[in-house]
Amino acid sequence: MKRTCVIGYPIEHSRSPLIHNYWIKKYSIAGEYTKKSVPHETIFEYLKKLKSNGFIGANVTIPHKRTALQVANEADAAAVAIGAANTLWYEREQLIAGNTDGYGFLTHLDTSAPDWPADRPAAVLGAGGAAQAVIYALQQRGVSKIRLFNRTRAKAEALAARFGDQIDVAPWQTRSEGLQDCGLLVNTTALGMAGNDPLEIDLSHLPQEAVVYDIVYVPLKTPLLAAAQVRQLRSVDGLGMLLHQAVPGFERWYGIRPEVTSELYAMVAQDISASSC
Ligand code: NAP
Repeated sequence: MKRTCVIGYPIEHSRSPLIHNYWIKKYSIAGEYTKKSVPHETIFEYLKKLKSNGFIGANVTIPHKRTALQVANEADAAAVAIGAANTLWYEREQLIAGNTDGYGFLTHLDTSAPDWPADRPAAVLGAGGAAQAVIYALQQRGVSKIRLFNRTRAKAEALAARFGDQIDVAPWQTRSEGLQDCGLLVNTTALGMAGNDPLEIDLSHLPQEAVVYDIVYVPLKTPLLAAAQVRQLRSVDGLGMLLHQAVPGFERWYGIRPEVTSELYAMVAQDISASSC
């Protein structure tokens, strides 16, 4: 039995077991994917001994993504650039850390809006953990200008210092006018998430060919996505990113590259609608 898990604190609301156990069953693998709640005090030791704890690999989520990178013997380029890891696996008895959030973000964007205008500036809202993966992915794709808006300007400036000249930090209050000439708007803030305030933004400044991407996936249709639909702009939801980011880890652990199917999407969407958290 090949055991894997997602480790976080808290971890109750994670949809990762739903996704990976769907694939384990679909591909008839002798495996099991569970949730592990591990507090700050013990996370380093727990990850260091992942294999003796019974796991061939794991996903790591908030608040342990940085520790996952520190614990590993080696890391992929994405985890190093982002400064955090969400996937752990073993190679030659060494623990390897990877970050697949940027991959999930881009793959879902390419699938949902294949001709999104990558030659125009992109607007990114937020400068937290998810924003780093999004900025990394956009830079990998060759987007040459990223306009970054964050409530706490100092955090946006720290990201700009790390990711380079392509990032223009702009005041949070100018997030509506600042959309002019952008080909992509990405919300990586927690605004619009169930229980939080909605994101207040005027989309009328966006060009008609622009794509609006909200990585928040609870609820599935956020107020931002609803506003994009009213303006008849193409929109991309956060659930697809969650599903696609799971693909590389599953392949590392189980040796099969799994498919993100409409059946899987519907199953997780149903779970989100039923629990709304
Ligand atoms: P995080 O590191 O805590 O960052 C939160 C961001 O939201 C910060 O930029 C913060 O701004 C901003 N923010 C929070 N409350 C705000 C408010 N009232 N007004 C303005 N800005 C506010 O969180 P994260 O890990 O980046 O996650 C952010 C969101 O992305 C969450 O909803 C998460 O579920 C989602 N996410 C989705 C996926 C996916 O696969 N679809 C993956 C990762 C994350 P300050 O810096 O000013 O505090």
